[in-house]
Amino acid sequence: MHDYTNYSHLGEGKKYFTVTFGCQMNEHDSEVLAGILESIGYSTALSPEEADLIVINTCAVRQKPEEKVAGLLGKLKTLKEQKKDLLIAVGGCMTQQAEAAAYVKKRFRHVDLVFGTHSLPRFPELLKQAGRKRGTIVDIEEYPDSREGLPARRAGRFHAWLPVIYGCDNFCSYCVVPYVRGRERSRSMEEVLGEARSLAEQGYLELTLLGQNVNSYGLDRANSYDFADLLTRLDRVKGLARIRFMTSHPKDLSARLIKAVSRGEKICEHFHLPVQSGSNFILENMNRQYTRERYLELLRAIREAVPGVAVTTDLIVGFPGETDRDFALTLELVEQARFDNAFIFIYSPRKGTRAAEMEDTLPRSVKEERLQQLAKVQSRISLEINQALEGSTVELLGEGASKSNPAMQTGRTRSNKLVHFPAAEELTGKLFTVEITEARTWNLFGKKV
Ligand code: SF4
Repeated sequence: MHDYTNYSHLGEGKKYFTVTFGCQMNEHDSEVLAGILESIGYSTALSPEEADLIVINTCAVRQKPEEKVAGLLGKLKTLKEQKKDLLIAVGGCMTQQAEAAAYVKKRFRHVDLVFGTHSLPRFPELLKQAGRKRGTIVDIEEYPDSREGLPARRAGRFHAWLPVIYGCDNFCSYCVVPYVRGRERSRSMEEVLGEARSLAEQGYLELTLLGQNVNSYGLDRANSYDFADLLTRLDRVKGLARIRFMTSHPKDLSARLIKAVSRGEKICEHFHLPVQSGSNFILENMNRQYTRERYLELLRAIREAVPGVAVTTDLIVGFPGETDRDFALTLELVEQARFDNAFIFIYSPRKGTRAAEMEDTLPRSVKEERLQQLAKVQSRISLEINQALEGSTVELLGEGASKSNPAMQTGRTRSNKLVHFPAAEELTGKLFTVEITEARTWNLFGKKV
């Protein structure tokens, strides 16, 4: 358990504002940062202008989020000139890399603290040092401080993120995550079950289990349980209605896991299973450790065992050495796999990864053309799959007013599809049934039954 009583004065009468880039794990890290700050007296600010402390939680998975951070830090310089006591802290995956941390310190001298993905337990002490205003404090050490028992200010009221494993040992050749999140460290079954029970007691209905690769849960611990066992135990936690998990790696997707999902009452029928490419040559160079044939086999096994399951994926186009033939194989796989949805990215070289050393001669225009072509095929398939749901009734968990039309409410199906429907009563955090009346490419419309 972390005791921050010695720091409780630090945030008295002060407000914090966080900006988060990247994945769900980063979103949860920001919830933990907020929990720590509130445990030492800070309260939330509604805007950067209102804040005494601004925390930026960065992402390093592609170039774009890093550029956005630089732009934001440029803008914050003016605010800092107006508010001398303002503290600015930059953390997360981007600054976990020594070169990026040094760059931020040198280029943005108005930043008071640069920290990494392993610094959360020490954040109050780092803030205390930064508050002394003796130059930028940098802490990107990989101390093995446990994150267990850290407070979290959760953004949701009925849905919660629940990390089960940190880090990644897969070293896909294009990916920076293993270098910034460290080696795989599974939380113990007791720690995860304990947190799940406490969340259920607090009224959370839906949990999303998080890990860069949840499928390898437990494999790094000297005991005999794995992710399938964890899902089966979580399925028995009273008060929960839905359990989701992300992200899965095909190489560790076992028949036991598919069975646990098919048998689980609360385990939602959705797999996010990144394939990345349809070419075995590219998969080899990506060090993905499976072939397109093996991937399609897994897809078949999932669909046979889990009725109504949705499968989504990630795809990279323009990986070094990708020929027209390789891309045609990816198009073909997407046609054959018929994913419910796919997140498609243009390859972004990450410093320090093996792929960044590979010759990358493909013109940007060709990469963009391939992205458009793939997105077009996937949109057609997503619409066809959604159209097949018209006339069916589905269970939703209410998520509140629709962002695009306040007269409508939104809910999510067990297969992770968003449905908009007219409703007078407040249905946030409630389970109910709707009939699907109209399909669109990325969402559905319905009426409450
Ligand atoms: S599985 Fe591969 S892509 Fe995913 S986080 Fe690990 S190294 Fe990166």
